[in-house]
Amino acid sequence: MITLVGNWKMYKTREEAELFIKALPPFPHVGKVRVLLAAPFTALSTISSLGREKKLWIGAQNIHDAEEGAFTGEISARMVQEAGASFVLLGHSERRHLFGETNSFIARKLKRAIASGLVPILCIGETALERERGETEAVLHKQLTECLLEDHPDLMIAYEPVWAIGTGKTATPEIAESAHAFCREALTGLFGEARAEKIPLLYGGSVKPDNIKALIDQPHIDGALVGGASLDPATFTDIIRNTGVL
Ligand code: PEP
Repeated sequence: MITLVGNWKMYKTREEAELFIKALPPFPHVGKVRVLLAAPFTALSTISSLGREKKLWIGAQNIHDAEEGAFTGEISARMVQEAGASFVLLGHSERRHLFGETNSFIARKLKRAIASGLVPILCIGETALERERGETEAVLHKQLTECLLEDHPDLMIAYEPVWAIGTGKTATPEIAESAHAFCREALTGLFGEARAEKIPLLYGGSVKPDNIKALIDQPHIDGALVGGASLDPATFTDIIRNTGVL
């Protein structure tokens, strides 16, 4: 099963989101590919039923770790779920680097997502400097062990090297595969081999229609998290088609 997640970031009004979903062909290939869209909070309720008709999973890009409370400007797991989210991205590098999210905060959010019945997609990845210093595996290990204090049957991990996000610099399939194989090993240490093998490991970082196939052909790459190229329905559809599973 290939998993493709579109991350719309802070793009698309409700109207634009609805037009996007209407422009997508239906994906009735259940069992071979599943398509998820992480939409802005305001668009969730608008696209959730339309998304279901097209067999898409609709989710959020963030939640707060508290159940509710005096946290001006924040949003809870229950709120996004009520609006139609079935999954949530956690620890995206833009959250870590622009908004100062730490592994311990992300671990608490993950716990909240699980308690609320939202499927967590944990994002991890090293910066260019960390890679240059040879720290990639240490960084990934720390992010995985400090964020994953709990498991969820549908948990997914997105390996997104920070230097490849929104830069047009995709990791080569070999670089991505080596990081994914390391993550699989780290997950084996946390949850045991049988469970680790079942956790989808997605690659993220400048995925496009012309590089998706070489990436998902790697043994430990089970799908992709797509930012910029998920904003246009034709380009996103090409990515889905080019997986070769339709
Ligand atoms: C992302 O937002 O997670 C991402 C990988 O972005 P892009 O595909 O634009 O690099």
